[in-house]
Amino acid sequence: MQIYSFFVSQKNIFCTFLQKIGGLNCLMTKRSIFVRFLGYMIMNEFTKNIIEWYAENKRELPWRESSDPYLIWISEIILQQTRVAQGYDYYLRFIQRFPNINSLAEADEDEVMKYWQGLGYYSRARNLHAAAKSMQGVFPKTYAGVLALKGVGEYTAAAICSFAYGMPYAVVDGNVYRVLSRYFGIDTPIDSTEGKKLFAALAEEMLDKKRPALYNQGIMDFGAIQCTPQSPDCLSCPLSDSCSALATGQVTQLPVKQHKTKVSNRYFNYIYVRAGAYTYINKRMGNDIWKNLFEFPLIETTSSLTEEELWALPEFRNLIAPGETPLLRTVCRDVKHVLSHRVIYASFYEVTLPAETKSFRNYRKIKINELEEYAVSRLVHAFIEKYISGKEK
Ligand code: SF4
Repeated sequence: MQIYSFFVSQKNIFCTFLQKIGGLNCLMTKRSIFVRFLGYMIMNEFTKNIIEWYAENKRELPWRESSDPYLIWISEIILQQTRVAQGYDYYLRFIQRFPNINSLAEADEDEVMKYWQGLGYYSRARNLHAAAKSMQGVFPKTYAGVLALKGVGEYTAAAICSFAYGMPYAVVDGNVYRVLSRYFGIDTPIDSTEGKKLFAALAEEMLDKKRPALYNQGIMDFGAIQCTPQSPDCLSCPLSDSCSALATGQVTQLPVKQHKTKVSNRYFNYIYVRAGAYTYINKRMGNDIWKNLFEFPLIETTSSLTEEELWALPEFRNLIAPGETPLLRTVCRDVKHVLSHRVIYASFYEVTLPAETKSFRNYRKIKINELEEYAVSRLVHAFIEKYISGKEK
């Protein structure tokens, strides 16, 4: 009787959800969806299991000790495209230097970039800085206000609002897509309009509206630790008895993506100048990777070059002042650097010129031993560490 009353009391949610997914392409038949959701409505099995699992397996992370929206915002932006293990130290260093909105807003962008150096996806740091400036010392208190911040999308806004303010917004990130698509056996592509709507609706339905922070953190950790992309631990999974993908042998096929990421090759030729104690750098501008980071003079080509081919390039010769004859040597060639959408093949050349050279006059002249003060990409930083700093010490 008790179970029956519970189901009747929840039937509107159940019917709404069935309507939402009714016409969609699922591995499960409508009959099995009905059975699954009947089970869900009676037991609230999925949400309950996620929260119980989280109580036992929760990762102790510094940003979870706080309900300060600023600290949560910083952690969420760092974790957008970075694993917890890598982002942990960056978070601690970042909030030590920029402990609140004003300290970040008042900082120089070059310094913010320096604290981000090595994390990748540098637009995150530029957006953090711009958003801090726009807040005028007060973090927004509504979902719409948080969503309006530069660099904050629906996922991050839901995370901040549920963790900091206890608002009932469900997070939908890669972990959530994976867990939901596997558990419910949904093969609608997660990057299709249809899929995005379906998973957003499903995530909302599964959310524990009274404990949104707990549930959101639970499902994210569950995806990161238990239901991982390559080797989910189905044997010890509390959802294994009712997991559709496990029952149908579809675990490794879900979730489905319709577009494969297109990866292109780029060829970077960096010129490291030694002119006495000085070298030359440049700040990357334009709408491209590593915007606002510093680097050595760069010539990008459509293929890998030999030293002779570099010599012959007008772009290279134009850097050298008339009458000067630099000494050129290849330091390393075709170093492969993989980014999400690109593979960069980088060659580094050392050019030796007299201290009073007039070459490279459009670049910033700095002391070689001051290179470490500038924010650079991980690729350039690795070169500095290996071939310059080591020698200078
Ligand atoms: S049984 Fe396996 S696939 Fe299903 S939710 Fe658990 S870990 Fe994920």
